[in-house]
Amino acid sequence: MNSSREVVLIVGAGPVGLVATASLISRGIPVKLLESTADLAQDLRASTFHPPTLDFLDELGIAKKLVDQGLVCENWQFRDRKKGVIATFDVGLLKGETNFPFRLQCEQWKLTNALREFIDNHPDGELITKTTAEAVGQDEDSVWVSAKNEDGILTKFEGRFLIGADGARSVVRKAIGANFEGMTIPEIFLVLSTKFRYEDEISDLANIAYISDPTEWLVLLRTLTLWRVLLPTNPDHSEEFIMAPENVEKRLQSVVLSKEPYEVMHKTAYKVHERVASKYIDKRIFLAGDAAHINNPLGGMGMNGGIHDAVNLAEKLTSVWRGAPLENMGRYERQRRKVAIETVQAQALRNRAILNAENEHQRSAYYKELQDIVADERKHKEYVMRSAMITSLRELEKVE
Ligand SMILES: Cc1cc2nc3c(=O)[nH]c(=O)nc-3n(C[C@H](O)[C@H](O)[C@H](O)COP(=O)(O)OP(=O)(O)OC[C@H]3O[C@@H](n4cnc5c(N)ncnc54)[C@H](O)[C@@H]3O)c2cc1C
Repeated sequence: MNSSREVVLIVGAGPVGLVATASLISRGIPVKLLESTADLAQDLRASTFHPPTLDFLDELGIAKKLVDQGLVCENWQFRDRKKGVIATFDVGLLKGETNFPFRLQCEQWKLTNALREFIDNHPDGELITKTTAEAVGQDEDSVWVSAKNEDGILTKFEGRFLIGADGARSVVRKAIGANFEGMTIPEIFLVLSTKFRYEDEISDLANIAYISDPTEWLVLLRTLTLWRVLLPTNPDHSEEFIMAPENVEKRLQSVVLSKEPYEVMHKTAYKVHERVASKYIDKRIFLAGDAAHINNPLGGMGMNGGIHDAVNLAEKLTSVWRGAPLENMGRYERQRRKVAIETVQAQALRNRAILNAENEHQRSAYYKELQDIVADERKHKEYVMRSAMITSLRELEKVE
C-alpha cells in the first residue's frame, strides 16, 4: 500500500473528531484531521463534563487542565419554579467509581483548545483547517475524501479508514446512505449568559438546576464566570424577535426581577432534534458524535456521549489497524447506537418531560419519584451512576 495512505482520515475538528484523533495518535496511529473552519469554534455550546468523560480525558493528560479552568459541582438539582428544591443529587456518591466524582462545568472550547495543543505537539497528528469535505468513498482496502480549500481548489486525501465526526449535518453520514431518524422538538432553545448572581437571589440554588414549571421551565447552569439561562421559546417567533434586546430582557426579568437591566454576555437560539443515524458504519467508514446522534441538551449528554463514541471507536480501530478483522468494528455500532437510543435519548426526553409536565397530577408524581430516589441511598447512587453516564458505559460490556 502507498505509504501516504497509511493514515486514518477524520472529518470534523469538534470535540469528537479531536478526541478520536488524540486517542489514535496516542496509540501510534497517524491521523489527518480535516476541518472546514480556520479556527475551532469558540462560541457557547456544551458546558457539562460527566465523570467518565474526565476519566477518559485523563488518559490523554487533559482532564486536570480542564478542572483547573472549570467549576467543580458536587451536586445538581431538580427544582419547581414556585416551590423551590424538589431533589438534590449528590455526585459525591460516585467516590470510588471514578477519579472525578463531580460534574465539571467548563466551556466546550476549553476542551477543543487543549486537544488542539495535544495534536499540534504530536508528530502523528495533522490538523488541516480551511478544508471542507465534499465527497467520500472507499474500495476494498482504502478510503478517500475529496475536500475543497478556501480558494475552491479540490484535493483528494487517501487513508485506510475514515471517521465522520462532522456534526449534525454530516456529509459523511449522507455519503454512506444513513438516514437520520427521529424528530425535531417543537421549541427553540434560547441560551443567554449573564454575570447576574442567581445564587444570591434564589435560595439553596445548586450550580446546575433544572427548574420545572407548567408554563415556562428553565435550566440554570453556572460556569466559573457566568450563569447560563436556558429557556424554551416559541418556534413561531423569528430569530430577530427572539434575540431582540428588549425581548431578551423581558425573558430574564421573568426569571428573577432585577432593578438593573441584565448584562447579557452571549446569546444563542437553536432548534433541537432527537435523531439517531440508521447505521454508524459502512465497511471502512464510521460515524461518531453529532454526526451519528443528536438530542436535547437536558442532562448534558450530547458532547459527553460523542466523546464516549470517539474513545470506543479509537480502541477498536487500533486493534483492526494492527490486524484484527474489520468485522470487529460492528460491535462499535451495536454498543454505541444502543447507548444513543436507550440512554441518551431516553434520559434527555424524560428530563424534558419532568421539566414541562403541564398536568399537576403528573408533575407531583415525578416529584415524588425523585424525592423517593434521594431518600434511599442505594437508589440515589444508582440514579447518579446512570445520569453521570457510568452505567451506560459498564452495561456496554454485555453487548456483543
Ligand atoms: C449552537 C449550539 C449550542 C449547543 N449547546 C449545547 C449545550 O448547551 N449543551 C450540550 O450538551 N450540547 C450543546 N450543543 C451540542 C454540542 O455542542 C455537540 O453535541 C458537540 O459539539 C458534538 O461534537 P461533534 O464533534 O460531534 O460535532 P461538532 O461540535 O458539530 O463539530 C463538527 C465539526 O465538523 C466541522 N465540519 C462540518 N462539516 C464539515 C465538512 N464537510 N468538512 C470539514 N469539516 C466539517 C465543523 O466545522 C465542526 O468543527 C450545542 C451545539 C450547538 C451547535
